[in-house]
Amino acid sequence: MYNTKSRVPSVPNVMKDPFGRTIDYLRISVTDRCNFRCVYCMPEQGFPVAPKPELLTFEELERLVRIAASLGMRKIRLTGGEPLVRKDLPELVARFSAIPGIDEISLTTNAYLLDLYAKPLKEAGLTRINVSLDTLQSDRFKAIARRGDFERTMRGIQLAQEVGLHPLKVNCVAMRGVNDDEFVEFARWTLEEDVHVRFIEIMPIRWNMDEVGGFDAMQPHGDRGLLQLNKVEGDMLTDLQMRKMMINASEIIDRIEMALGPLEPHEIPTNGPARTYKLAGAKGTVGFISQISHDLCVRCNRLRLTADGFLRPCLMSDGELSLRDPMRAGASDEDLRDLILHVVAHKPERHYLAEGQKVTGRGMSQIGG
Ligand code: SAM
Ligand code: SF4
Repeated sequence: MYNTKSRVPSVPNVMKDPFGRTIDYLRISVTDRCNFRCVYCMPEQGFPVAPKPELLTFEELERLVRIAASLGMRKIRLTGGEPLVRKDLPELVARFSAIPGIDEISLTTNAYLLDLYAKPLKEAGLTRINVSLDTLQSDRFKAIARRGDFERTMRGIQLAQEVGLHPLKVNCVAMRGVNDDEFVEFARWTLEEDVHVRFIEIMPIRWNMDEVGGFDAMQPHGDRGLLQLNKVEGDMLTDLQMRKMMINASEIIDRIEMALGPLEPHEIPTNGPARTYKLAGAKGTVGFISQISHDLCVRCNRLRLTADGFLRPCLMSDGELSLRDPMRAGASDEDLRDLILHVVAHKPERHYLAEGQKVTGRGMSQIGG
């Protein structure tokens, strides 16, 4: 049984990795399941998911976050899979908000279920929200996400704003040949509303299903050229397709500036790794997260916890360590603390995606993107 009287001291601490980076941000995948099938993230039939008993329970998550907070973890982001499909998520948020040392609890979501959960999440202590939205066109939405519904997603986003989940960040994966004709529309949105649109560089991460003897549809195939959404069929994009779709931030900036005028650099407190800009008179901002073409690793402050309880020091390298198994075998808080510190001590300096590194150990939805 979990002992609620944790022996971990509440003295604030600071974790540093071998490269001097402060580690204070934990991204937690609360589920590997998702109600969408975005073409850059999953195949049409989804990935095989972990059986429910393999997922960390709320009690286990709370215990790990309490220990991590005692080591200096300050910010938590809930992600997935789609975090809103995890039953009773507001209860988990309430548990985390009661943990001393945790200053911020945020959520990354596809927004489809936000119409149901925005209010209870806010009441439970959720600080803010990032929604993923790659298009402002209903038909295209269906082609990219392959599930869900554009209108309901937009209603969810609106409701999040109404209940005060500010600042609202909108993450748009920029894809040449797919949504590159919409960058100006996304930027125009920031003129009218207090939204912070961030264009994310597409990352060639996909689970190599061969290694796990997966679906026939996931057998390797050659490059099918630039994306024709109707040619992705049941699969997800290949590494090569994703690399070909990448668009440089400077190209996006040029397109926006040509249509809407200059973008001035503009820092916001919760920038994270984004470089942000503002159009004259805009209520919101436009940002860029260029994980591959820019070295964001130098400022990386995060660890990731997978839904099945593995702690990873880096999104892009396949190393990970189970906290769940030792915990279920009776590990003490001190043992778990040592394991967390061990992972921090093995955080790689950087990824090598630009040099052609392949990330195949798990997909984004499994790691918690
Ligand atoms: N389901 C939630 C969502 O979509 O917001 C949370 C999990 S999702 C894996 C987190 C983020 O990863 C989303 O913003 C999504 O667009 C992004 N993502 C997934 N695969 C990606 C890829 N190959 N390249 C860049 N971003 C990706
Ligand atoms: Fe689901 Fe998010 Fe992956 Fe889309 S990006 S399939 S919403 S986990």
